[in-house]
Amino acid sequence: MTESIQAAAIPEIPAERGDVPFYRERGFHHPHSVTGTFRRIKWVLMALMLTFFHTAPFLRWDRGIGAPDQAILIDMAGRRAYFFFIEIWPQEVYYLTGLLLLAGILLFLLCALAGRVFCGFFCWQTVYTDLFLAVERWVIGDRGAHLEFDRRPLSVGKLGKILAVNGLWLGFALMFGIAFQLYLGDAFQTLREIFTGTATATSYIFIAVLGGFCFLLAGYARERVCVYMCPYARIQSAMFDEHSLIVSYEGWRGEPRGAVAKDHDFTGRGHCVDCRACVTSCPTGTDIRFGNQLSCIGCALCIDACNHVMDRFGLPHGLISYDSQANLFAKEKGEAVRFRPFRPRTMVYFTLLVLVGGAMVVSLAIRSKTDVNVLHERSPLYTEMQDGRIQNAYTYKILNQAREERHYGLKLDAPAGAVMEVVGEQGRGIETTLEADRDSVATYRIYVTLPRTMVTGNRTPVAFLLATPDGKVVRNVTLFAGPSD
Ligand code: SF4
Ligand code: SF4
Repeated sequence: MTESIQAAAIPEIPAERGDVPFYRERGFHHPHSVTGTFRRIKWVLMALMLTFFHTAPFLRWDRGIGAPDQAILIDMAGRRAYFFFIEIWPQEVYYLTGLLLLAGILLFLLCALAGRVFCGFFCWQTVYTDLFLAVERWVIGDRGAHLEFDRRPLSVGKLGKILAVNGLWLGFALMFGIAFQLYLGDAFQTLREIFTGTATATSYIFIAVLGGFCFLLAGYARERVCVYMCPYARIQSAMFDEHSLIVSYEGWRGEPRGAVAKDHDFTGRGHCVDCRACVTSCPTGTDIRFGNQLSCIGCALCIDACNHVMDRFGLPHGLISYDSQANLFAKEKGEAVRFRPFRPRTMVYFTLLVLVGGAMVVSLAIRSKTDVNVLHERSPLYTEMQDGRIQNAYTYKILNQAREERHYGLKLDAPAGAVMEVVGEQGRGIETTLEADRDSVATYRIYVTLPRTMVTGNRTPVAFLLATPDGKVVRNVTLFAGPSD
């Protein structure tokens, strides 16, 4: 961001705010409720996200006989993860890595386009804090009533309201913990077990821990999570540029601010009436008039609050708006404004997103129902037989992801004179047949023996070729160890 843009668009931070401590304990912030476009969007998103989170475990997906029919399931006992038609085995944990990578790049792209829009609209901390604040307002009242409530001495009535708020928070927090648990086993059965007291102790502990964190973070820690605990807040400034849409105060239009005169005359002064509605409605207590700050989660509630104030005085909306620093600068100069979503930074993020996403889709589409893992025995690396031949041992694992038992042809590709022996199977040679039960991992121990003359140093390449019933051949190249002289 150029210095001129920064200087023009952001009012100077007064000296008394210049040395903001790293951590400031300031009691409880009770933001004012607001109405408006962004508030409505947030309510709708909250309803959609919470509804999906709590109902998705009950969605069914037919995977055939013997397979779980829960659409989204992390089957801990069966060591599988299911997402509709996708089934992930523990050996395919790289898909999880890919998913995390995709999420990271998407977050970077969102940030470059529209600032901390994820924090303000989609983050679970924001969603649950919003929900808990709504509960608090419903029981105790809005900001003014709550401040007055805090000043009141403790009484039976006050205690009752405090207990009611905490009770409702606890209810929602436990629902969160229970909903999470439903993704880890059959949802209907798990729910029955939880409420009939027949679930495992681990399940109850899991619910208590998750619910406890939800209760504490959304009920008591609130904006402190965003300001002091979340690492994303710390790195966000590296992801913005002057064209990112962020919640911004139009300093050139708002300043000099001041209380409004009786005649509502705004000649020679700014449009900010210094009512602090933007600050009191902010869930993190940020004063956005001092420019973009680490504590601003981009929820846009201050935009709604300020637009109401502008309406009251017949002034145009947008004193606080979603806008880029470049546009603020252009507006101040009376130049044309434009949103530039296609920039080198966003194009790089978008390309990475397409590449990683595309690679995952292709690999999921072409992946085989058979996977093979070959492990060379390390201790000992090789054995010298009495007749002078060299023997190596391998652990050979076949992952049969099909829902039926399968038979495979195994062939050894090795120098002449090689002999392969599969423990527990008949015959010796270089070809044999192996089986794997449905939906399981078959583990074999294989000995390969080579004449001493065919062993070249301590790393002779050999390969196992597995012919699958669907006509594919899985080739695994490994090494045959021997004396190095
Ligand atoms: S709500 Fe608008 S008018 Fe009121 S203090 Fe904030 S920026 Fe100024
Ligand atoms: S300053 Fe505005 S956008 Fe930022 S957190 Fe506060 S209300 Fe939300």
